Parts: sequence; C-alpha cells; structure tokens
Amino acid sequence: MTDGPNYGFDTLQIHAGAHPDPATGARQTPIYQTTGYVFRDAEHAAALFSLKEVGFIYSRLTNPTVAVLQERIAALEGGTGAVCCSSGHAAQIMALFPLMGPGKNIVASTRLYGGTVTQFSHTIKRFGWECKFVDFDDLDAVRDAIDENTRAVFGEAIANPGGYIMDVRAIADITDAAQIPLIIDNTSATPYLVRPIELGATLVVHSTTKYLTGNGTVTGGCVVDSGKFDWSATDKFPSLSAPEPAYHGLKFHETFGAMAFTFHGIAIGLRDLGMTMNPQAAHYTLMGTETLSLRMDRHVENAKKIAAWLEADDRIEYVTYAGLESSPYYERSKKVCPKGAGALFTFAVKGGYDACVKLVNELEVFSHVANLGDTRSLIIHSASTTHNQLTEEQQEAAGAGPSVVRVSIGTETADDLIADLDQALTKAIS
Ligand SMILES: *Cc1c(COP(=O)(O)O)cnc(C)c1O
Repeated sequence: MTDGPNYGFDTLQIHAGAHPDPATGARQTPIYQTTGYVFRDAEHAAALFSLKEVGFIYSRLTNPTVAVLQERIAALEGGTGAVCCSSGHAAQIMALFPLMGPGKNIVASTRLYGGTVTQFSHTIKRFGWECKFVDFDDLDAVRDAIDENTRAVFGEAIANPGGYIMDVRAIADITDAAQIPLIIDNTSATPYLVRPIELGATLVVHSTTKYLTGNGTVTGGCVVDSGKFDWSATDKFPSLSAPEPAYHGLKFHETFGAMAFTFHGIAIGLRDLGMTMNPQAAHYTLMGTETLSLRMDRHVENAKKIAAWLEADDRIEYVTYAGLESSPYYERSKKVCPKGAGALFTFAVKGGYDACVKLVNELEVFSHVANLGDTRSLIIHSASTTHNQLTEEQQEAAGAGPSVVRVSIGTETADDLIADLDQALTKAIS
C-alpha cells in the first residue's frame, strides 16, 4: 500500500505494511520461513551491521513477515514504529529495558493483569528495578509516587479484569510535567476502542495473543512508539541519548529521531534479549488484524447485552462492566473509549467461591480458559487461577476477589451465551 495519511482504520487493518510480494506477486503476505538473508556483498553486510543501512540480517532481529505486522500495528496505533516480540510479557520487558537500570523504578496502576502484577512485584527486582503500585484514580498519589529515579508510568487503558477505565489523558498530563514516558498496555482495548497515543501515551504495549490475533492461536507481543518523547531533554535515558559503545558511540536519539526507540528495540533489545516473534506467529496475527474492527464491534455489542442481562438477574451480586450505566466508569468510558468499553468484565455470584467454581464447571458454550480476546467466549475464576499468586488484598484491589468470575465475551450469538449462563447459574446456585 502506498502511504496514505488519511486511510481509515478498516483500510489500515487490512493493508498497512503489506505489499504484493516483489518476487512472486503473491497478494497475501508470505511467511518468510528463513533465519538468514544473503548479503549483496561484503560492503552491504558491513553497512547493515553498523546500522548505516536498514535491511534483513538474521531473524532474531528482523524478518519480513514480522516487519509487515510491526508496520501494521504501528499504523493502527498511530505510532512511528513498532517492535514485535514473543509475548505480551516480553513486550513489557522490551518497553522497560531501554528506560531502566538498577535503582530505577516505575509507577504502575494497581489495576493490572495478574501476570503483570507478578512480573512487576517480583521478577523485575532481579534486575534491580522497583515498582510502586498506585491507585490511578488518585492523581495526587500518582504525582507523589514519581521520584527522581522513576523512569516510566505504566497502566492499562481498559484494565483486565475489573472493567476499570483509566483516564489516560489525566495521567499523561502528570507524566508530561515530570518528563517521563507513559506506557499504556492497550491489550484489552485494542487501538480500535482506545487511542492511547492521541490521549498522550509515549509507548503502547500489546499482548497480540489476545484481540489482535483474535482466535487463540499464537502468543505474541508488540511495543509501539509514539515517536513524540524527547529522550535527550534530560540525562535520564542514556540508552537512547548517550553514545552506545556496541555501535561505535552511535547515539540512537540523535541518529534515528522519532524512530530511536524502535531501532533500539531491534538493535539492542531483540539482539541481546532474544524475545523474538517467529514468522508463523506474525502470519496468524496479520490474519487477525484484518478483521479487528468487525470483531470488536461484535464483542462490544454482545458484552453490552450479556452484562445487562446479568445485572438484572437476582443470582448476581454485581457486574463491573464500564458499558453499564451503573458503572462508576460509565461517563469516563464515553471519553476514553467512545466505541465501547471492551468485552471483558467480571461479575460476582451470590454463593461466593463455591458457586463460582460450580458455574465455571457447568458452562457449555463458554470455555474455562486462561486467555481472553478470543472469538470464543471464555470464563475464568481469577482468584483460584490468574490471580492466585496475589494476596487477597491485591486480588480485591485488582477486582478479582473470591466471589468474582471474569468473562471474555466472544462473537457468538448473544442469546446462546445468555442461555448458557442461565442454565449454569441454575445448577451453581441450588
Ligand atoms: C495476556 C496479557 C498480558 C500478557 O501477555 P502474554 O502474551 O500472555 O505474555 C499482558 N497484559 C494484558 C492486559 C493481558 O491481557
């Protein structure tokens, strides 16, 4: 596709990054199942290795199929560049790696995917990194948590699993004033529902495992750069602003400008951390992106119907879907995600922990799966699974207490999903 700054989302999700294959004319993006690429000559190889020329060297760094996906996700998010990697958790490390160092910290929302809470509260400490968890609705607390060693602020636009909507713009005003980057995990929302870069985010991370692929086939992740952050404005980000010894003193920001973070992600991040996405995974995710907006519209339509039905049922204690008028985030959702509040929410079942476990066992159309963003409807009891490593306090803070189940509403016939919930609730509460 030729560059067209005004193409709509539905066009970009099919065409961005892709061109008919120059060797064969193949219209669909081929799976370039290769690890190496023949250099034209010795000078060409030397130019590629010293970053004087951009091209393919080795598939740990770049691969043509993965490159199409990178360009496509960057276009959908409105960023300057993107780096794909092996999973959403890999993307989080890839996003933080250039910013952090021993003794540095991030400030993160308390409302995050359970695996992210674990990664941030335990694993990153091995690198000498710290995380301070803060309620992102308390803007003063966010401001106060940022200190001279803070290198990023991290939150989810639509937070899994509690139906929380982050006021991205308000947090971006704080990070702008502090001159530190804002990283938004846009996995649950997708760029179709939330536009983090337009709302002031510096970087966007994805678990492409979820809605971007959309059919539960492959794990993957992506880091998108807005290209807007001035890495050289302070001395806080030497990986991007100071001379890089492994590339003869090259300064990424000075040399690559708005592409600095993306080039660093490939030339240092993928080179040395090796969290590479394989071309097969990129292929499945490219297939998924082609129908993203169509699927998201249906996900949202179904989620609204099912959330409303559950809310009216007297076997249910409460439903935390921001698309319901009863939600404290309903007004905010109209600002942050005007096309809909996603398709992930939790509900509390009268009968507590035991009723939740029975409900999960009795459902037939819903699958009991630790995944989300599939075309299939999925359910999980977070407290006994994804949020099991958290303390009960952390579970409650994340909206995943013991009497709560999380659903990821799929694109099936809504009436079938309602009937399935109805029969399983009857068996669970008897
Ligand atoms: C699944 C998920 C992740 C982790 O992604 P993986 O691909 O499983 O590594 C991170 N954030 C959110 C919001 C997720 O849903």
